[in-house]
Amino acid sequence: MPPKKPRTDASPFVPETRSLPALEAAARACEGCDLFARATQTVFGQGPADAALVVVGEQPGDEEDKAGAPFVGPAGRVLDEVLAGAGIDRSRVYVTNAVKHFKWEPRGKRRMHSRPNAGEVTACHPWLAAELALVAAKVVVCLGATAAQSLLGNKFRVTQSFGQVLAREGRQIIATYHPSAILRMPDPAARDKAREQLRDDLKRAWTLAGGESGSAP
Ligand code: SF4
Repeated sequence: MPPKKPRTDASPFVPETRSLPALEAAARACEGCDLFARATQTVFGQGPADAALVVVGEQPGDEEDKAGAPFVGPAGRVLDEVLAGAGIDRSRVYVTNAVKHFKWEPRGKRRMHSRPNAGEVTACHPWLAAELALVAAKVVVCLGATAAQSLLGNKFRVTQSFGQVLAREGRQIIATYHPSAILRMPDPAARDKAREQLRDDLKRAWTLAGGESGSAP
């Protein structure tokens, strides 16, 4: 039997559509890389098509995988708190991930997050590109290296670019901490500082999008 071809591209699964619900429905059947096989379900982006801001994370975690929704676990709770602290209404934000299936390794009875590799991020990029093409927002916040590299290239380093506004394909992009990275920081002072950085970067993005703190643009 010939060896199975590796799955490396979501493009054949991405429909031509002008509708986020149609895109989400199609993504449920994606087999563009191997990650679909061990995950519960595709976790697509959520938020209105006329969102003022897009926030992109890395991939769904254990709770998101079970719920089928992005940022509903511990990292989502941090994101909610920081958005509220920045005066941003999450219902005006489209929230998604660079990779739509949960990648994990077993540790005892637990499923531990495993970072998607560059091939998986590239394979899943057509979904993110399709979402960005349909959402009105022209300002994007990348949470962590995986999201940033999906939109800004593999050489991009978040730690060297906090607060910078980068222009790409008609959008303004700010890269900052992923809430999970903040949760993993052992030093409480470093954790607080990183939360402030995340809040300030979200606030900067919201202002760029035309909003003032506590207001909807
Ligand atoms: S991670 Fe992305 S490319 Fe891979 S199967 Fe899931 S939706 Fe498709």
